[in-house]
Amino acid sequence: MSTEPVKLLEEEGFSYLTCIQCGTCTGSCPSGRYTSLNTRRIVLLARRNQDVYHDRDLWMCTTCYQCQERCPRGIRIADGILTLRAESVHMGLMLPEHRKVAGLMIEKGHAVPINDDGRAKRKELGMDELPETVHKDPRALDQVKKLLEVTGFIQLVTDEGTEISEEGQ
Ligand code: SF4
Ligand code: SF4
Repeated sequence: MSTEPVKLLEEEGFSYLTCIQCGTCTGSCPSGRYTSLNTRRIVLLARRNQDVYHDRDLWMCTTCYQCQERCPRGIRIADGILTLRAESVHMGLMLPEHRKVAGLMIEKGHAVPINDDGRAKRKELGMDELPETVHKDPRALDQVKKLLEVTGFIQLVTDEGTEISEEGQ
């Protein structure tokens, strides 16, 4: 059972209800230039208590925080989007791409693990092929996996959830 968007945002201290729909957030959004993300619309859906959780655009935000820095009402837009997304994940909803990234975290300890190209470039530059991260330290990787397990992350993202479809609006 999900929490209604307005209630959730209020509980977390994000004042979407004070939005004046000026559109500064949408105009500032780099992601919106390349995707269907319209930040003002996400804010509007949430403040109307409509189902923003199944909206694919919720996942198009890169959390660059430009909207939040420029909002004339001082609304913590990006923080709110992250909160809405977290609720969405708890409902079992995720984009397939994000579920894959979560899988990489679980398996490799990195959302974007190093690949052959990365290794070759590092070598070319005279560096160790692997960076000083869990890539190089199996014990640290085990600890990361343990953390992901005890915090419930693994179960959360690998349970039979619902993928948000292309039409998910
Ligand atoms: S910039 Fe702020 S006030 Fe303007 S539409 Fe976006 S959230 Fe609303
Ligand atoms: S934080 Fe998200 S919604 Fe805001 S400008 Fe950046 S990408 Fe767009």
